Amino acid sequence: MAGLWSKIKYLARSGAYGGAWYISPFFCSASQTCLAKTWESLALLQSTVDFTAQGRQFGHLYIPYSYNLAGWANLMVPIGVIQNGSGPTTLVLAGNHGDEYPGQVAVMRLMRQIDPTQVRGRLILIPALSMPASKAATRLSPLDGKNFNRCFPGNPGGTPSEALAHHLTTVLFPMADHVIDIHTGGRGVDFYPCAHMHLVAPGPQRAGMLAATEAWNSDFCFLYADIAGTGLLPVEAENQGKIVVTTEMGGSENVTAQVHALTQSGLTNVLKHLGVLAGRADTRESLGLPPTRWVQALDWEDYQFAPESGIYENRVPLGSVVASGEVVGAVHFVERPDRPEVPVKAKSSGVLIGCRAPSLVAQGDCVACVAHEVDPRRLA
Ligand SMILES: [Zn+2]
Repeated sequence: MAGLWSKIKYLARSGAYGGAWYISPFFCSASQTCLAKTWESLALLQSTVDFTAQGRQFGHLYIPYSYNLAGWANLMVPIGVIQNGSGPTTLVLAGNHGDEYPGQVAVMRLMRQIDPTQVRGRLILIPALSMPASKAATRLSPLDGKNFNRCFPGNPGGTPSEALAHHLTTVLFPMADHVIDIHTGGRGVDFYPCAHMHLVAPGPQRAGMLAATEAWNSDFCFLYADIAGTGLLPVEAENQGKIVVTTEMGGSENVTAQVHALTQSGLTNVLKHLGVLAGRADTRESLGLPPTRWVQALDWEDYQFAPESGIYENRVPLGSVVASGEVVGAVHFVERPDRPEVPVKAKSSGVLIGCRAPSLVAQGDCVACVAHEVDPRRLA
């Protein structure tokens, strides 16, 4: 790297770039473009895996950044590629939010244990998209303060989170036919463990997403709305026409045996359903389970927020049917035991699909999500 930098400085001093102390393609003749491109590519994210190679590879995405003890540092994000012959490409992602661990465990296990001869096409796997957040047990990256799921479409010259989002948008999504992004409620929310999706426009993409989401074989499949901002990973993938499957595999930092079993089995089954993994996909019927219950929370009123700060009490178990006006939780005030609790009521009848996880709550935190049963035959 030092040699290249010396050459660039020499060329700049010699006036080859109009005396400028920086390299820009706008100042380059055709013969100089090569050096400018080399410099640009060094400044961008690098990958150590070969996406065209057969078999299993483990490698890293190198995202350049600087901090006070390392001017030429790289954030190294592990990535795996397993390829066998021709077929579809499925991008399997977890750790979009660092404090959501069941997907990270399931993807790491899949990377190690899957037999490459069972793959029909290509799997690209990233178990911890937000590496610094995973290591710190935080939702947002402590490296740049970013919520990775608000960074799309990304920025190649931005923070490490923004640069990785840009790489997904411009390199990895275009390679993929399907994108699986495994979430949980993180520290903040407990969900009834379920696969979920956006209700994209009617057509083949929606039909494909409905079928793939149901292939997770969770008790509920959940159609959700974006109530907290834009720039989401799944939205970018959906806009590129991909079959996108996402989840809310419970919540809190605990990877329970029950949640892990559903995360691992659901992921494997969806890969079989998509045809990128050999074998026949199970259905809930073949497993002796009742049909999936499809629910949707597409209106802002379906999401309840804490009216005041305090200690939050969940009053209804997840997955319960609640009536309109029913008390689903309450805020208590530890400094004012004499003050009556403030109830949180369902605004409509439905199923409590998500609730507050930590007991301490701040005004405006989401504390309940009531979803409404919907006939899947009316969705396709
Ligand atoms: Zn998440």
